Amino acid sequence: MTVDRITKDQLLSNYDTFLFDADGVLWTGDIPVPGAIEWINLLLEDKTKKVFVLTNNSTKTLEQYMKKIEKLGFGHLGRDNVISPAIVLADYLKSNPEKFAGQYVYLIGTENLKNTLENEGGVKCFGTGPDSIRDHTDGDFIHHVDMSILPRAVVCSYDAHFSYPKIMKAANFLQDANVEYLVTNQDYTFPGPVPGVVIPGSGATSASVTAVTGREPTVFGKPHHPMADFLFRRAHVDPKRTVMFGDRLDTDIMFGNANGFASVWMPTGVHTIVDVMNAREKGQLSVTPRHLSESEEQPQKQGWI
Ligand code: PLP
Ligand code: CA
Repeated sequence: MTVDRITKDQLLSNYDTFLFDADGVLWTGDIPVPGAIEWINLLLEDKTKKVFVLTNNSTKTLEQYMKKIEKLGFGHLGRDNVISPAIVLADYLKSNPEKFAGQYVYLIGTENLKNTLENEGGVKCFGTGPDSIRDHTDGDFIHHVDMSILPRAVVCSYDAHFSYPKIMKAANFLQDANVEYLVTNQDYTFPGPVPGVVIPGSGATSASVTAVTGREPTVFGKPHHPMADFLFRRAHVDPKRTVMFGDRLDTDIMFGNANGFASVWMPTGVHTIVDVMNAREKGQLSVTPRHLSESEEQPQKQGWI
């Protein structure tokens, strides 16, 4: 398998729907990737093109994303252009009112995710914030979990307060096969502001819960199908005329390949050209991009030309 370089002109003539990962493709942290704003604006001005930002980051509400987009200079993107696992998961909860409307969800996640699931998904979340052994110790905590509130689902995501009591609660709730096990995304790590510092993501928290419970989660983020299903519901997308841009092979590139889209790897994020070449040489087709971006040909230009 070869990985071809592709130019902007080729992209414009070959594709109608353009899907962008956010962090590592459009921006890194709070800094726009050079050329990304111009590229997005060019596509949005062409009314024949559809543009979506597909991020796996569920720690922001849509309102917070719109503020960030405005602040960074991507202000032409609208609410309907942005999709995160939090949005897809809230849509799933709302679409199944007989099971979830007004019901409890045990959430290993942030306050912002709680707000999205409550406001958009119609559920009541509990579990966010620190949970210490003292919170439910009544003697020997190892033998006691407060089961006075029984949730309809356990949602697992990035949580800086992830702890032993949280794994224990999730595992006990999930003993009931009727309690659904829902995971926002499985990125094991994500890049932070300090280069070289590893930050565990939702993949790390959910791996613990999965190991303890033996339950298979429904995962809403890239590369899993609920995000693609949501996209297909939102817009008419012809896979053959669609291209996904990403920096991560196991989320973005796999998502593009799994759905029959073209995939373009960007050198501005987590994975490196060495990772791309290793995947290609090992024949790992599902995570090998179809194309390298034009800028990879000129590494001094880190970004979109
Ligand atoms: N999860 C968290 C908590 C993050 O902060 C990030 C990036 O900042 C991601 C996932 C990956 O986001 P994306 O899919 O936009 O690269
Ligand atoms: Ca990324």
